[in-house]
Amino acid sequence: MSRLLVIGCGGVAQVAIQKCCQNDEVFTELCIASRTKSKCDALKEKIEQDGYSKTKLSTAQVNADNVQELVALIKSYKPDCVLNVALPYQDLTIMDACLECGVHYIDTANYEPEDTNDPEWRKIYDERCKKLGFSAYFDYSWQWAYDERFKKANLTALLGTGFDPGVTSVFVAYAKKHYFDTIDEVDILDCNGGDHGYPFATNFNPEINLREVSAPGSYWEDGHWVEIPAMSIKREYDFPCVGKKDMYLLHHEEIEALGRNFPEIKRIRFFMTFGQSYLTHMKCLENVGMLGTEPVMHNGVPIVPIQFLKTLLPDPATLGPRTVGKTNIGCIFRGKKDGKERTIYIYNVCDHQECYKELGSQAISYTTGVPAMIGTALVASGVWNGRGAKTTDEFDPDPYMDMLNKFGLPWVVVENPVLVD
Ligand code: NDP
Repeated sequence: MSRLLVIGCGGVAQVAIQKCCQNDEVFTELCIASRTKSKCDALKEKIEQDGYSKTKLSTAQVNADNVQELVALIKSYKPDCVLNVALPYQDLTIMDACLECGVHYIDTANYEPEDTNDPEWRKIYDERCKKLGFSAYFDYSWQWAYDERFKKANLTALLGTGFDPGVTSVFVAYAKKHYFDTIDEVDILDCNGGDHGYPFATNFNPEINLREVSAPGSYWEDGHWVEIPAMSIKREYDFPCVGKKDMYLLHHEEIEALGRNFPEIKRIRFFMTFGQSYLTHMKCLENVGMLGTEPVMHNGVPIVPIQFLKTLLPDPATLGPRTVGKTNIGCIFRGKKDGKERTIYIYNVCDHQECYKELGSQAISYTTGVPAMIGTALVASGVWNGRGAKTTDEFDPDPYMDMLNKFGLPWVVVENPVLVD
């Protein structure tokens, strides 16, 4: 029995909210709040018309950049937990509001600032780049800084419960618990074999997505970061149920938490598949300045190029009906059990059209929204009750793995998989 406030009503939120409504024994009441209230009202109406859920729904308008607006909403709705599926830009304001009101906080992506030229943020960022050796705009330091305050308030801030990060981190905890005495290497492989038929579109928020994939790649090796130029390490892998795809090494946020929480792991890498056409489009957009995050003057009006590009691109939430094919996301592990070398691959395969039939969404939003619900349910029901700012790899993986099977993301464990060189 819990009351949940969800912030955001985009592609991921729409899946997470519908999944919460499927889990109506835990989520008895839910308020959908976002910048554009009409989207919240439309989703509420759809769920009520579908008629499968006993969850009592309401909606609200909120600007999640404004802590006082958030505090007023939380105080009036009185939720037990807040699920942030807006954008990473709002992580800190929502965490501040949760602390002020004494409610648990959950999100799917770690903090990055909207304005990367903010001098206060830049100073800290430049120092972090030098100290840690990776230059992504996002990192955990901002949210880990809330750890003590959440602990003191007897609250949980569950960080990054999407698929990657989220499920991939749970896969690591599960592998360690059930398959290995020590893990030496982890390769996280994110394959989207889906085709939406557009020449170019992103599967989740274009601004966040393009910032991530156009940045230098990096991986964790022997206790430190190794940074490489964007897209400069390429491998081909034959993915179960999808087939052969090219994949590229990217920086990814779960590596940071896993490197800290599993110091025994000698190497952690993250690969994502991209087709040549996607990369050519992205390079071209980058070359002409369309991925810029600084305002430029156009006919006397300041515009941020990447935000204008977002306006031009298809809304990821609308890709569902036209996307066919499957995703395969998982982790390959190399380590030791009882003194012997062991390798396993844990992965989930998800079909875009099946997701669309069930919830009206494509598989990227689905594979993020389902784990967002699961993490929230485990915090709300007290099954995951560790306090402070924590990632999903810091909790018992078993109940999470059970819920993945139950709520539409079944996984398999394969022994002796083909390794990535
Ligand atoms: P969308 O752009 O589709 O949705 C974002 C939603 O947040 C929109 O409803 C938007 O409102 C709302 N929003 C934005 N700014 C504010 C604000 N200031 N106040 C209130 N509401 C706001 O994004 P996605 O659904 O694709 O992504 C959601 C989150 O999921 C992102 O943080 C993304 O990084 C994360 N993600 C995580 C993954 C994982 O595996 N861990 C994978 C994919 C995504 P409006 O409708 O007005 O624009």
